[in-house]
Amino acid sequence: MKVLFVASECAPFVKTGGLADVIGAVPKALAGLDVDARVLMPLYRPMKHYGAKGRCVWKAANLQGGKARLIATKAEGVELLLLEAPHLFDRDGGIYIDTAGKDWADNALRFGALAQVAAEVAQEGAAGWLPDIVHAHDWQAGLVPAYLRQSAKPAPPTVLTIHNIAFQGNFPNDMMKPLGLKPALYTQEGLEFWGHLGFLKAGIAYSDRVTTVSPTYAREIMEPEFGMGFEGLLSARAADVSGILNGIDTQVWDPETDTDLVSTYSAKRLKPKEKNRDSLLQRFGLTAPDNAPLFCVVTRLTTQKGVDLLLEALPALTGRGARLAVLGSGDKALEAAFVAAARQYKGQVGVIIGYDEPLSHLMQGGSDAILIPSRFEPCGLTQLYGLRYGTIPVVARTGGLADTVIDANEAAIAAGCSTGVQFSPVTVSGLVHAIHRACDLFADRKQWVGMMRRAMRHPVGWADSAQAYKDIYTALKET
Ligand code: ADP
Repeated sequence: MKVLFVASECAPFVKTGGLADVIGAVPKALAGLDVDARVLMPLYRPMKHYGAKGRCVWKAANLQGGKARLIATKAEGVELLLLEAPHLFDRDGGIYIDTAGKDWADNALRFGALAQVAAEVAQEGAAGWLPDIVHAHDWQAGLVPAYLRQSAKPAPPTVLTIHNIAFQGNFPNDMMKPLGLKPALYTQEGLEFWGHLGFLKAGIAYSDRVTTVSPTYAREIMEPEFGMGFEGLLSARAADVSGILNGIDTQVWDPETDTDLVSTYSAKRLKPKEKNRDSLLQRFGLTAPDNAPLFCVVTRLTTQKGVDLLLEALPALTGRGARLAVLGSGDKALEAAFVAAARQYKGQVGVIIGYDEPLSHLMQGGSDAILIPSRFEPCGLTQLYGLRYGTIPVVARTGGLADTVIDANEAAIAAGCSTGVQFSPVTVSGLVHAIHRACDLFADRKQWVGMMRRAMRHPVGWADSAQAYKDIYTALKET
């Protein structure tokens, strides 16, 4: 089985969020199931050196105004097809935003070009490699099924995975022409989304199957509260929509071998975790908690992540003698509010603004609990890292958070199966209540250690989900 993944980011080459982790991990997990998955993605400036080592398998004299090549290479265990188009991708700034922090003005052309090339590879192959299935991810690859639909040539079946329905890729409809999209596709059932050309809409409308990254989120996005305008279309296609949980790379995220930790540890040997905690307290300028947990947060600082609620919960958190270490970046007002909070609660709340992968490992290794008060969360990865590192997740009951953490309610405690704390509604008082519950659980050392060990044994790898993707590919191939 050959599967063409089409995506805009892939860890460890380029990453802005969980999408990259998934694209970096799933092909490797599928390889163990005899699925040959290759990732077609742009060759951005910071990863140019990967292109230098590959071989050219396709080229075009003019792709949206410049020359383009597809370079096949293998790096970090992933088979890559890198779209080299310097006029679109070889530039300073972010992969979606310019150096001033604004979306690139030509994003429609950039990712439309990615989809065009993907559709061509899907139909013609690249150096003899012809996929059986095309698996597009998020809006950046959303046009792939549309290009295949408007073509008269035979095309493989398509799967679209929605990693976050908040990111939709809606553009002025006069982009239809430069993107080579046929006007007949601009309908309510097709590319049109509230008067715009919708890239994600195209993917949802024209792919054979739609998946998202947790069963609960799959149900939620069929409701107006979470569907962000797509609830109607997704409900109409409910039979083709399913949720497959994300996993994590359990080799990269392993407390027994993690080189970013001060001290490695395991479920059997928990004591060394304390050294990581000491190091973290020092790094964030915190005094030792007063028989209470050291909470951490590792996140984009946006309202999606509910971190504004956390700011309001700080009096309760610090009042319990707990400590908080925050690593994040994003919304400038939220960044400033956290920096101010660190000043106000000096020694009790520590904040580092930025993106720091090694530090994020140490935070999982050294904290007692991780707070994730997201208003919505398609899957979430940091609670999975938390489970693996015995860092108890305290999470909003939504999306993948609801599907991966077993709340320490009375029944779960009695049955000995709890792995964390869930709360609902996602409000300041809901979060404060959860923080108090976590502090109460922490005070019972035996209880807490039992929960840590259970959390660390909870399966968080890709095995089951990779099989679930393969099942979808197999079913599509056979129809
Ligand atoms: P999302 O994709 O919505 O941002 P996820 O929880 O699915 O949320 O994935 C976020 C990923 O980015 C995780 O791997 C997390 O550890 C990482 N991350 C987020 N913010 C930071 C940061 N400031 N520094 C390091 N890693 C971060």
